[in-house]
Formats: sequence, C-alpha cells, structure tokens
Amino acid sequence: MDCIFCQIVAGELPAERLYEDDDTLAFPDLRPRAPHHLLVIPKRHVDSLASTNDDDWAVVAACLHTVQRVARDRGLDTAGYRVVSNIGSDGGQTVNHLHWHVLGGRLMTWPPG
Ligand code: 5GP
Ligand code: ZN
Repeated sequence: MDCIFCQIVAGELPAERLYEDDDTLAFPDLRPRAPHHLLVIPKRHVDSLASTNDDDWAVVAACLHTVQRVARDRGLDTAGYRVVSNIGSDGGQTVNHLHWHVLGGRLMTWPPG
C-alpha cells in the first residue's frame, strides 16, 4: 500500500485521530497553513472527487458531516472557516486520496493562489 492516507487509516503511519467513525477519519495536517488545519478523509481509498462513482456519494456526504463536526468541536462555527478539496495537478492535489482541508483561526483570503 503506497498511499500515505491509507497507511494513516491502517495505523501504519502516525496521526492524531481527532475523530473517526466507520467511514471517515479526521487528523491534523502535518504542515498546517492556519491555526486550525485538519484533514478529513474517507477510510476507503478514492483518488479524488473527480473519480468518485455512484457508490462513493454516501461516503462523500459522511465526510462533509465529519467536516461540520470537527469544525464545530473546535469552535470555528462563529468566526467561520474554509473547506477545500484540491483535485488533480491544476487543483494542487499532492496526496491522491480524497480529502478535505478544514482551515480556520485566521481570516482567509480570496481568491486562493
Ligand atoms: P493536497 O496538497 O493533496 O491538497 O493536501 C495534502 C495534505 O496532506 C498537505 O497539506 C500535506 O501537508 C498533508 N500531508 C502530507 N503527508 C502527510 C502525513 O504524513 N501526515 C499528515 N497528517 N498530513 C500529511
Ligand atoms: Zn488511500
């Protein structure tokens, strides 16, 4: 298995498991870009949103539910936060396992670089 996020799911690579359920896992980004920077992933490997199939939509919804939960747990609801899923090379995706960045704790700029 050469996917680092699959290795994190399997416990073969260390990560602080901030929240997990049967389908999803949330953990801190190794190189945080904001005071709060978490990643939310499906436990089952999917490359990106571009390669989801009909069987994946329930787990996509479960991931977004986990995004909402971890952001709320961190008290980000009031000030707000940003949710990003980078897709492919133009999207800036560097780990080819579907994930959402949850960024908060500072004012985000727009447009992104
Ligand atoms: P992408 O660039 O694909 O949108 O996001 C991948 C993210 O995964 C990056 O923000 C990067 O810092 C993070 N990352 C890469 N390797 C690891 C790792 O081994 N552990 C954790 N927690 N995050 C990682
Ligand atoms: Zn994977």
